[in-house]
Amino acid sequence: MKLLFLGLDGASAQIMFERDLPNTRHLLEQSTYRACMAEEEYPYTGPSWTSIYTGMSAEEHGVTDLWGRNIDGSESYDTLRDPVIWEMLNHAGLTTGAIHMPMTTCSRQVDGYMVSGFPNELNHSGPIAELMPLLQARDISDLIRLTPRDRVLDNTWYRNYSLERTIDILKKMVEWKIQAVRILVSTHPVDCLFVQYSLLDRIGHLLNQYLRVRDGEGWSYAPLLELYDWLDGKLEDLLDVGEDYDLLVITSDHGWPAEAGDPYTYDGKLFGAWHSHDGVLIVRDMAGTGRVPEGERIEECFNRDVCPQVLELMGFDYDELRNAAEPRPIETPRGTRLDEAQTIEERLRALGYL
Ligand SMILES: [Zn+2]
Repeated sequence: MKLLFLGLDGASAQIMFERDLPNTRHLLEQSTYRACMAEEEYPYTGPSWTSIYTGMSAEEHGVTDLWGRNIDGSESYDTLRDPVIWEMLNHAGLTTGAIHMPMTTCSRQVDGYMVSGFPNELNHSGPIAELMPLLQARDISDLIRLTPRDRVLDNTWYRNYSLERTIDILKKMVEWKIQAVRILVSTHPVDCLFVQYSLLDRIGHLLNQYLRVRDGEGWSYAPLLELYDWLDGKLEDLLDVGEDYDLLVITSDHGWPAEAGDPYTYDGKLFGAWHSHDGVLIVRDMAGTGRVPEGERIEECFNRDVCPQVLELMGFDYDELRNAAEPRPIETPRGTRLDEAQTIEERLRALGYL
């Protein structure tokens, strides 16, 4: 395998680079790292990940919706006409696997496989279907994915599960996905593997939701930082996919503040904190070619710089591949939607929670 591209939705540069996270610190000492900024106007998952995938600004690729839905004039992954990084790598002759990369529904055809990410619903069949009970444990993003596009998120989940139990589920999903990824790597080898874990983003939003459920009572920001600590303890597992790779890239679409004071009200809603702009870009040369300096924190970049830089490190020319690759958007009609509660219950049953 040549590339392991690990996405950590909402991983903040300030926390990742400054908090006492021993395993992350050790990795940074072997890597070149920098804050990877979301655009000033769009510190959102949808636009930022699309910029990471395409090497383009939100204005250029047109995905402006928070979750990258095809609403309010925003493009979506279904309609995006610009090639994304795995399509460019496919064009360069490399196979790719993409697992739960945000925005990647409906799945587009790739030379390899794709287990699509939020927000829409999807069906999987074929060679990876047998792994779906593990892979459908998708970082609680199900909640977003299963919410009809004409509705805002409701609080059903938070009213039924305590914060402690939810955090437990988040952790379990990471552990299961680590296993599923290893099985995929051994059974369906690819040249470039993209995997995304969204628990750091989820915990931030969940804290806000629980805050609202309790009308602001008992606000504690500690669970967010504790989840960074927990993930740091899992870093070795996350990076050990069962096969060697030449280049490691870890990136995030935006950050989350390292500290949050008193809860505040915005637009009639109570918040403890919300997205910050500072995502991360960490690059480690696993092949020892000397092309990536070690232990160097360099000047910040933008989300849109990720794709060109990764391609360059892999020996490709971004402009050339972008012009040559053929994007393969799939504008499939929306599938028949199962009853929402029923679908959520199915997922929970698969997780052993019902
Ligand atoms: Zn995000």
